[in-house]
Amino acid sequence: MKIAILGAGIVGLTTAYQLTRDGHDVIVVDRQADVSLECSYANGGFIAISQAVPWSSPGVLLRVLTTMFRSDAPILLHPSQLPKIWRWGLEFLSCSSAPISWENTKHILSLALYSLGLLRKVRDEANIDYFQRTNGCLKIYADQHSFEESAKAQEPQIPLGIDFKVLDAAQCIKMVPALDETRQKLAGGIFVPDEEGGDCYEFAKVLSQTIREAGGEFRFSSAIEGVEMEGNRVAKIITSTGSITADRYVLAAGADAPLIMQSHGVRLPIIPVKGYSLTLSRDPWPDAPDLQIVDEKNLFGLNPLGTNRLRLAGLAEIAGYNRAPQRRRTDAFIAGFLDRFPQLEACLDRSNPEPFCCLRPVTPNGLPILGQSRFTNLFYNIGHGHLGWTLAHGTARIVADLIAGKSPALDVTACRPRPTY
Ligand SMILES: Cc1cc2nc3c(=O)[nH]c(=O)nc-3n(C[C@H](O)[C@H](O)[C@H](O)COP(=O)(O)OP(=O)(O)OC[C@H]3O[C@@H](n4cnc5c(N)ncnc54)[C@H](O)[C@@H]3O)c2cc1C
Repeated sequence: MKIAILGAGIVGLTTAYQLTRDGHDVIVVDRQADVSLECSYANGGFIAISQAVPWSSPGVLLRVLTTMFRSDAPILLHPSQLPKIWRWGLEFLSCSSAPISWENTKHILSLALYSLGLLRKVRDEANIDYFQRTNGCLKIYADQHSFEESAKAQEPQIPLGIDFKVLDAAQCIKMVPALDETRQKLAGGIFVPDEEGGDCYEFAKVLSQTIREAGGEFRFSSAIEGVEMEGNRVAKIITSTGSITADRYVLAAGADAPLIMQSHGVRLPIIPVKGYSLTLSRDPWPDAPDLQIVDEKNLFGLNPLGTNRLRLAGLAEIAGYNRAPQRRRTDAFIAGFLDRFPQLEACLDRSNPEPFCCLRPVTPNGLPILGQSRFTNLFYNIGHGHLGWTLAHGTARIVADLIAGKSPALDVTACRPRPTY
């Protein structure tokens, strides 16, 4: 079959890869001049199997409401967005009860573990080097209460296949000596040995080459301007460089997916949530961590990419489709890192960098939306939120199986599009 994939982020590319392996002819369309230049460009790089708890979880509302007017809030909601997202917000709240959040955690964790297995397989098959690290991740906590609460909350996940070790402050410092500088603010940490990381953009570039070699086609600098329907089928995609027809279509346009479908009366429950990232040379800080670190208080991640770069990522801001970095948020972002790692000052001075901002495609329940839409030849692979790099390989295989009419390896009923989508 000829299959058109709308979006060349990590989700679109992994989908194209799985579909070419199944013998289909793929064409991948994107408005950018190359692959993976939006949300999949400079994300945190964590294959974050330990971050399976969705944002819609008990206590999140209080956290957002008490910090929404502070420029340094890890999660910031611009009040002007409320009229636009109230429907999404109500659904988010309805998913935040402990039992629903736990059900969704189980779904996300099983998707993440499935995806990790496929990532390992694909990187071997396609021989991809993407500055990966496979030595785990340390999640650190500034206060004793949140440390103990998190360790307790992680326990029910052990039978689901995730291993972790609870470490006191001294053990954390032994593992990551750079933490010694702020030891008075360190209650302890949770080490996740199976967690991996690497440069998503680098992975995407090499994967796109593999797709090309297998006969896949790319149409860049082509903005999707419309989807033309004929009855309950997609007839063609209208782009700024001409139209495209195919037997099947896969929508993988990240945070923009709802904009593409809205003229057909489809209200996809995805909102854009802006994040910040900075990539620095680690040369001025030779003793920088060799392990991925997540700071649970400030909600940021520090990822050593290869031997000479550090990726800093974090912040969540509901501010519509505005992708521009804001000065005061950038300052807050950097201050959060310096609070934990004052040693970073040297790297910042040297590179004087501008942050990269992009939009996470976030659903109310934290689950991606996967499978056939109400249009018979249109499939969705969207809504991966803060975990797109973690989940992409798994959701790609699942969508490829659904297109082939096969049962996927996991039960994804909870991720299937509603009849109105
Ligand atoms: C700061 C930050 C840190 C993150 N860290 C991590 C992490 O450590 N681990 C993790 O797993 N996830 C992380 N994420 C989330 C992850 O990056 C996203 O979930 C993932 O990149 C989404 O991939 P995607 O392919 O769905 O979207 P995108 O990468 O945004 O791809 C969508 C593509 O569709 C194209 N497109 C959209 N509309 C149109 C149109 N009209 N016409 C043509 N083309 C169009 C875009 O150009 C784009 O290339 C992070 C996100 C942020 C913001």
